[in-house]
Amino acid sequence: MKIKTVGKVIFILFGFLSACNPATHPDAKLAKQLEDSRYLRFTMNPYLEDAGLTRWYEKETLESRSLPLASDFDALRATGPGKLHIDREVTISGNGSVCLDFPTSLAKKSSSNRAYATAEVIRPLDREDISDYNRFSVWIYVEAPGFYTVFAGFALYNAGEKIMPVPGRFEGQHYENVYPGKWQRVVWEIPDLYRDCVTGFGVSIMLPGSPVGASDSMSLYIDDMRIEKVEAENSRGFALRQNAMAYSHSGYRTGARKQAVVQNVKSTFFKVYNEKGKLAYKGRGQTQENGFTVLDFSSLNKSGFYTVSIDGVCSKPFPIGNQAYLATAWRTLNFFYAQRCGYDQPGIHQECHLDVFCFHPDGRSLSVAGGWHDAADLTQGLANTVESGIAMLELAETVKDKDQILYERLLEEARWGLNWTMRTRFGDGYRNGGLIIGIWTHNIRGDKDDMQSLARKDPWDNFMGASYCAEAVPHFETIDPVFARWCRNTAVEDFNFANEAMEERLAGNATQTAVSSFVVDAAALAMVTSMRLYRIAHEQFYLDRAAFYASIVMNCQQLEKRADWLIPLRGFFYETPEKARTLAYFHRSQEHLMIQGLAMLLSDAPNHADAPKWKEACMAYSDYLHDISNVMEPYGILPAAVYQVGNTDYSSIYHEGPRDRGAPSLEEYNAQVKNGVKLSETFYLRRFPVAYQFRGFHAILQGKAKAAFILSRLLKDNELRNIATRQMEYIVGFNPFAMSTIYGDGYDYPPLYGAFSGDVTGAVPVGIQTFENDDEPYMPMQNNCTYKEIWVHTTARMMWLVAELLRDGHVPE
Ligand SMILES: [Zn+2]
Repeated sequence: MKIKTVGKVIFILFGFLSACNPATHPDAKLAKQLEDSRYLRFTMNPYLEDAGLTRWYEKETLESRSLPLASDFDALRATGPGKLHIDREVTISGNGSVCLDFPTSLAKKSSSNRAYATAEVIRPLDREDISDYNRFSVWIYVEAPGFYTVFAGFALYNAGEKIMPVPGRFEGQHYENVYPGKWQRVVWEIPDLYRDCVTGFGVSIMLPGSPVGASDSMSLYIDDMRIEKVEAENSRGFALRQNAMAYSHSGYRTGARKQAVVQNVKSTFFKVYNEKGKLAYKGRGQTQENGFTVLDFSSLNKSGFYTVSIDGVCSKPFPIGNQAYLATAWRTLNFFYAQRCGYDQPGIHQECHLDVFCFHPDGRSLSVAGGWHDAADLTQGLANTVESGIAMLELAETVKDKDQILYERLLEEARWGLNWTMRTRFGDGYRNGGLIIGIWTHNIRGDKDDMQSLARKDPWDNFMGASYCAEAVPHFETIDPVFARWCRNTAVEDFNFANEAMEERLAGNATQTAVSSFVVDAAALAMVTSMRLYRIAHEQFYLDRAAFYASIVMNCQQLEKRADWLIPLRGFFYETPEKARTLAYFHRSQEHLMIQGLAMLLSDAPNHADAPKWKEACMAYSDYLHDISNVMEPYGILPAAVYQVGNTDYSSIYHEGPRDRGAPSLEEYNAQVKNGVKLSETFYLRRFPVAYQFRGFHAILQGKAKAAFILSRLLKDNELRNIATRQMEYIVGFNPFAMSTIYGDGYDYPPLYGAFSGDVTGAVPVGIQTFENDDEPYMPMQNNCTYKEIWVHTTARMMWLVAELLRDGHVPE
C-alpha cells in the first residue's frame, strides 16, 4: 500500500516536471485498433480525442448570430429536386428544423456518371458584408435508411467583386461526412473566403443513387444555423500555428535526424521526456529567421515514447525506434481495405458496382467490380490499383521475417488488387483502363444506372500491369505457385504488348497513344518494368530493353549546371528529349521512376557499358535535390519544379465541369510562375506546383522523397535520407498547421473529403494546397476536393515511403 502511494507521488511529480499532458501511448492505441479490427477483418475506428475537429468544437465563440430557418420559413429557397417543410419533432434547437425530402436518383443517369442532381436549401442574406464573422455553424440530421454514410455540402454565396463559390473551382464550398440517424454539428471557418456581399448560405446533398437494399429517398433536417466569430486556425503561409510544435507524429527511427520546430518562444531551452515522465534529453534550440527555433535531439536513440517541451509548448507522445511509422503502415493498409469495391464492407457500403462492365471493341465484356475505389468518389482505375498494390508488396518485402502478421495482411490486400488487375484484361493487349464512377448502383444490368468503360490497348496500362504482376511473383512462388504462375504469365504477356506498342510509338507509327503525354516518364516506366521482368526472368532481352529506355530518360535530363541561374541547378528533367519544357507535376507524380529505374540498372548490371552514364544521371539528380532542399526552411520540404514564363501547355489538363468555367489561362500560369523563387529573367523555381482547379501536392513531395531514399542508398548519402524523411514528416505533423494530414493517424488531423467512404482511418489526402496564385502552403478548414480528398495515389505513396524508411533503418531490439 505504501509502495503504491510512493509510486503515485513520483508519477505526479514527473508529470508536473514534464509540463506535458501524459496521454495514452500511441502503441497502446494501435494495439487496441488491431485487436478491435481483428487485424483488419473489420475497418479500424479512429481516436476522436486526437482529431482536429474535437479541438475545433471546443473553441470559445466570441460572437454568434443566428440565421433563422423555421422561424423565417418563407424567406428560404429550395433548389433542385425535393420538398421543403418545417418539422417540429426532429429539432436540436427546440424551435423546429427545416427538412428537405428528396429522391436519391432521377429517371436518367448523368452522362458524367456523377450525382443525378443536387438538392439544396438556401438561407438568403441581403448582400451583407459579414467580414466580422469568420465561422459558419449549423446542425444537420439525415434520415437515409440503408445508407451507412452520406455527405452534405455547404456553400457561401458572395456576389461582390469576387464571386463565391468561385466558378469552376472548389473555393467557397465545404463538405462533411454525415452518419444517418444522429444530429451532427458542422463548423466551417471562413477567414480566407470573400464575404463582403453575401447573398446566402446553402446546405445541400447530392443525389448519390442507392446501393442495393437502401431506400430510394432521403430527408435532410437543418437547424440552428449561425455565423460566428472565433480565433481562427492558421490556414495560409509558413508561420506556425500559435503555441504549437511542428514535429513527426509518426516518430523517428533509430539513427535518424530528429527535429521539431517552434516559433516565437521566449527561451530556447528544451527538454525531452520519456514515457515515465523522466527527463531523457535536454538541449538548446537553434534560432532561425522569422522567430523559428529548431530543436534537435538526433542523438536520442533509445527506443520508447517521448514528449518534447519548450517554454510551455508541448508535443504529444511519439515513438523513437522500431515503433516509428508502424501505426502509419497499419492505418494506410486499413484505408485500402476500406476502399474495396465489389465487396460487402460493413459501416461503409454493401457489395457495389457489380453492374459496371468494360467492353472490348469486338463486343466481349467483363465486370470491373473489385479492386479499390480510387478516392472519395467510386472511380476505379488501373494505374492507381497497380501503384497501390506495388506499395503493399514493397512494404511487405521490408517487414518479411520481422512482422509476420503485417506481412501476411499486406500480401492478402495486394492479392485483392492483383486479382482485379489480371481479370480486367482481355488477353490480347486490351484492358480496362478506368472509369469515373460517382454514384451507387443497383447491381442489375439493364437498368438506368448501368455504366461501361471501353477497353484500350495502351502501353502505359500494360507496362503498369506487367510491373505489378512481376513484383508479386517472388512473394507467391512458394506459398501459392498456381497464383504465382498466373502473375508471371500476365507480366510477360503485358510487357510484350506494351513494349511493341512503345516501339511503334517511338517510331512515330503509333495508332494508340500512351496516357502520359511526357516521353520521359513513359520511358521511365518502361525502364522500371523491364528491370522488374529481368529480375523474375533473368533474360538479357529485358536488360537490353531497360538500357534502351534508360537512354531516352537520360536524354531528357539537364546534365550541365545552369550557371546562368541565381541558383545554378542541374539534374532536373524535361518532358521530352527535345528539352522544350521542364518536367512539372501538379496532381499525380511519377518523378521517382527515372531514378528508380537507373538505380535498378546500376544494382543489377554495374559493369554494363552505360553504367557510368547511369551513375552520372543519378549524381546529377542528387545535386538537384541537395541544391533545392533548403529553399523552405525551417520545414525543409522540396520545391515543386522549375517553370519558364510563357511556356506551358494546359490543353490536356483534366477539368471537372464546363471548360468555360474556371479553366486555366496563360495569364494565371504566368502569375503563379512569377511568385516562385527567381532563377533568371524567365525561369523560376516554384515552391508548390502551378495548379488550377486540382490542387493539393503531397504526391509531388512523395515522388521526390522516393527518389531521395533510393539515391541515399545508392550513393551512401545520409543527408538525402534526412531530406526524404522530412517530406514524410511534413505529411504527419512537421508543417505550419502542426497537424497530421492523415485521417486517424497522429494528432490534430482534420476531417477529410471522404464523400462515399465517410471518415476512413489511414486515408492520406491529395495534400496541402495553395491559395489563388500564391506560392505558400494553404490548408483551410474548408473541406473539399481535391486537396482534402482521400486518395489511393497519395496513400500508396505514403506506404512505399514507409517501406523505404523501414528497409535499411530497422534496428533489431
Ligand atoms: Zn464499388
